[in-house]
Amino acid sequence: MKNYQKVIAVLMCCVLAVGLIPVMAAPATQATSGKLVAITFDDGPGAYTEQLLDGLAARGAKATFFLVGNRISSRLSTVQRMVREGHQIGNHSYSHPDLTTLSSASVSTELTRTRQLLVQAGGSQTYALRPPYGSHNATVRSNAGGPVILWSVDTLDWQSRNANAVYNKIINETRDGSIVLLHDIYSTSVQGALRGIDTLKQQGYEFVTVNELLRRRGITPQNGQVYTCAYNKGINLPAADAAKAPTYTTKNVFGGKQITLSCATQGATIYYTTDGSAPDESSTRYRGAFVLGQTARLRAVAYTAAGRGAELDVTLTLSKSPAPTASYANGMITLTAAKGTVLYYTTDTTVPTDKSACYKSPVKVNKRLNVLVTASGMADRIVNYTVTKYGDLLTDVPAGAWYYEAVGEAMHRGIMKGTGKQLFDPEGQVTRAMFVTALYRMSPDADNTFAAPTFTDVPKNTWYTDAVAWAQAKGIVKGMTKTQYQPDGDITREQMCAILHRYMKVYGHTLPRTKRPAFKDAADIAGWAKKDVSAMYEMGLINGMGGGVFAPAAGATRAQCAKLLVDLTLKIETV
Ligand code: ZN
Repeated sequence: MKNYQKVIAVLMCCVLAVGLIPVMAAPATQATSGKLVAITFDDGPGAYTEQLLDGLAARGAKATFFLVGNRISSRLSTVQRMVREGHQIGNHSYSHPDLTTLSSASVSTELTRTRQLLVQAGGSQTYALRPPYGSHNATVRSNAGGPVILWSVDTLDWQSRNANAVYNKIINETRDGSIVLLHDIYSTSVQGALRGIDTLKQQGYEFVTVNELLRRRGITPQNGQVYTCAYNKGINLPAADAAKAPTYTTKNVFGGKQITLSCATQGATIYYTTDGSAPDESSTRYRGAFVLGQTARLRAVAYTAAGRGAELDVTLTLSKSPAPTASYANGMITLTAAKGTVLYYTTDTTVPTDKSACYKSPVKVNKRLNVLVTASGMADRIVNYTVTKYGDLLTDVPAGAWYYEAVGEAMHRGIMKGTGKQLFDPEGQVTRAMFVTALYRMSPDADNTFAAPTFTDVPKNTWYTDAVAWAQAKGIVKGMTKTQYQPDGDITREQMCAILHRYMKVYGHTLPRTKRPAFKDAADIAGWAKKDVSAMYEMGLINGMGGGVFAPAAGATRAQCAKLLVDLTLKIETV
């Protein structure tokens, strides 16, 4: 809801609560059987048009705006608001010439240019013409592209520029079925018109668009025909019915469900939301089928001349198609599609679409190459398969990632294992149990057993018990306290340095050191870890976090851990 709508809503609530103003409280049925008037504004949009729209909205009055094309683009949002709020827009030429002085081709150009701008705001439909100065001839009428709408009440507002004079003209000359001529480029016209509306509403007048006036008087407007009024000659149809709730159909397409909305009520405009919020005329206007990519609540409502209709409210469930099963052997990836799915793939790292190659038989992939696979069904997923240097198939380690090589080595050497079927979880945080386990696996003692650890928070027979036992026996870990190892705590960067440095000392590994500048946050490094951090840093095993910062208390991801341990392993081997 826009701010002005909120203000209006608040004002209307106050008015209704007090209940003293009959204009607002008048039941709609009384008005529909009563008198009709079409108030029209030419030459806009202008500086006072938004103010006029506020006033019309507050009064529940509809109007018709005959717009000058060359004024539209600078105030397009105002024109869109007219449409959104149920007013009628029409053609008042592009540059306001007397059309009877122009050639047929020039008339056509004047009217077509504006019509194209009206379509932008109001969609493809027939737009009525009000020729400038009301001046028309056979050439103008044959180029009109819609009915020619003149007027029966001329307020002469452009001449008087006086709100009282405008008001008096409106209330004195309007009769049931009048079309009233005004210009919303004058503040005085806007003031006079709004006061006139208040008075005429008290007299039982309903303010409708020109189209609605003609319809309710049983008139079907014809292109090129001139209308000046629609007096009550015995035909007085009721107001349009409130719109029925929109209905929807779905179709499975690549990327999700394609939704088509429709409304059984003719001339209804549909607005919708997919985020659960209540739809209104400021929501997305439905202009054609759209695709929902995930489960969503679809709410839609149609508006007609009668206002807001009933609402559609439905939750559309989209279940992702299961990923295929995949295996790798001899340079080929073999996929087995889940039931009801179709697989497309690319082998060049581009994102596959349903235009890509369709999977029929095992695909040859280069070592270290991404294979992208998608399943198409109710909805789709893209699975990125990567083959490591050693033939492990992974779906969460892109071939281009900085840790791709390290992950392949870490898995191949048994230092780290995957976290699930074809998963490595590179962004997962490394715990103290995970780090010491990885180190144990890469140590020469991985097959040996040691006395049970004395930490009370390390139970017997967990996956990390042997590793903690080894590390404690070798003096590589000391625990957070004498009795606590805190196996589930995230390892910090300074802890990693300390543990790794002790590991190297225990096994007699050393690497050449290069003096490097101190970290800006060196003071944050714990006293017990300072030497270890310096050593690991100067041996090139661990780097800063960028900007000269070490971030000693930050954690480490599995990808970082793999890189660190693999780097150490490879460097030790080449020393
Ligand atoms: Zn004009």
